Amino acid sequence: MTTATIISGSRNLPPAALDRQIERAAAAMLASGVKPGDAVALLLRNDFAFFSASLAARWIGAFAMPINWHATPDEIGYILDDSGAKLLIAHDDLAAPLAGQLAGRTLVAVPTPPEITAAYGLAPSTPLAEATTWDAWLPDDSTPAPPRGPGGASSLIYTSGTTGKPKGVRRRPFQPEHLAAQAEVAVAGYGLDPSQPLRVLMTGPMYHSAPNAYGLVSTDMAERIVLEPRFDAEELLALVQEHRITHMHMVPTMFVRLLKLPPEVRAKYDISSLKFVVHGAAPCPMEIKRQMIDWWGPVIHEYYGSTETGLVTGHGSAEALAKPGTVGRALPGVTMRAIGEDGKDVEPGAIGDIYVHSRSVPDFSYHGRDDEKSEIERAGFVTVGDIGWIDEDGFLFLCDRRRDMIISGGVNIYPAEVEAALLTIGGVRDCAVFGIPDAEFGEAVCAYVEPDDEASLDAAGIRTRLADTLSRYKIPKVVEFAASLPREDSGKIFKRRLREAYWGQSG
Ligand code: ATP
Repeated sequence: MTTATIISGSRNLPPAALDRQIERAAAAMLASGVKPGDAVALLLRNDFAFFSASLAARWIGAFAMPINWHATPDEIGYILDDSGAKLLIAHDDLAAPLAGQLAGRTLVAVPTPPEITAAYGLAPSTPLAEATTWDAWLPDDSTPAPPRGPGGASSLIYTSGTTGKPKGVRRRPFQPEHLAAQAEVAVAGYGLDPSQPLRVLMTGPMYHSAPNAYGLVSTDMAERIVLEPRFDAEELLALVQEHRITHMHMVPTMFVRLLKLPPEVRAKYDISSLKFVVHGAAPCPMEIKRQMIDWWGPVIHEYYGSTETGLVTGHGSAEALAKPGTVGRALPGVTMRAIGEDGKDVEPGAIGDIYVHSRSVPDFSYHGRDDEKSEIERAGFVTVGDIGWIDEDGFLFLCDRRRDMIISGGVNIYPAEVEAALLTIGGVRDCAVFGIPDAEFGEAVCAYVEPDDEASLDAAGIRTRLADTLSRYKIPKVVEFAASLPREDSGKIFKRRLREAYWGQSG
């Protein structure tokens, strides 16, 4: 039984209606031939159908598989083929580019809601000719709920492929012990404590693993879940005020945009209801975090985690100020290790590969690539390729992902450190740093800079400023300017797209 009323624009779906929609969608999935263990593909924006279809798939023991709707038709085709999903539930506008490419699959078309059409300036919603419409697909309201399938809740989520081809992370079904541990992690990491009145605002797209877990967990705990159709800094403040929002999941780029609002706009809104605003997915510059804490108070929290491992660490505002740059301490049920090249745990403060074991997350596999899992495993712990160090108090500091690390003249350079330095330079709105081929040093540091609209920046000036804080070998040899960088809604820079120009498709 869900608890939350979901609100989107002027529409709302009370919990009893959500429960009924879940049961009807579960019955419809079975009628469409979905079997336990199959993947149900969801190409949906944050909308009622996202919740009901995800929970319906879990109901029958299938894998709910949300797809990043920024993906190109080819990328979506890859994910559909790779996962073997036979049923695709999609909003009309997102399905439109797939016309003629769905041979052998059932397409269920969900009308794109008016608030999303308006926010994105889309034409009125029309389903593809080959689609069955959502209303026609859902059985009659009197249809009984099908029995619950084996194994309960599960998901198959493709990572965004920021470092390589998207990988389907397939979680084994949750068992009672995972669910108990997960509830503890949801309280500690997301602040979602069901004993408190929870009014949640969802702004980031739920196709990404963290907002996905956050939104779906909230259906059983929150009083209301408000959906912002598209992130807009001022609208977010207005929604917080209107609904007395207590909890939100955000990414650092949203903070940057909120902080750009002029003081008189910020002052218009009462945000005093906020209790726990959590961010993660990408590094948050310390200066941005300080400014957010100054404005919103000590309600800013951060987690670190991944699709594979779920939430790993968490920390609040006081810890962030006391230990600038940390991503926090292991959450309940999580054990972390930093392992050196010799395969042994390194001393506190020394850099190693971060390995994690979590009690709250069922074992996972990479769909169709069993061998890749064994490459990242070590005695029950897994690494998703992050490098960092753990201090003597157990706080984790991330350097970067091993895949992104630049080796120039035999020396390791962490792009995240160069990016953090670049972001302190006035006029730099966003940046991405990565390695490019270099005849002399093997790799050289390349920085892409997105300047503020009014800023006049040049490469030489940027290098001079960086020399104040960075050693010479870390200073980018190449500085390029771009009007906008490929940053995902999930908060990450799509470096693979930038790298390809230098390394080719494999970059
Ligand atoms: P792929 O693995 O295919 O490149 P992806 O990066 O989107 O895709 P996710 O599971 O979504 O995969 O992201 C997990 C990664 O996000 C972590 O391994 C880490 O590098 C980064 N990350 C998560 N939280 C934080 C944080 N608080 N600060 C910095 N980086 C973070």
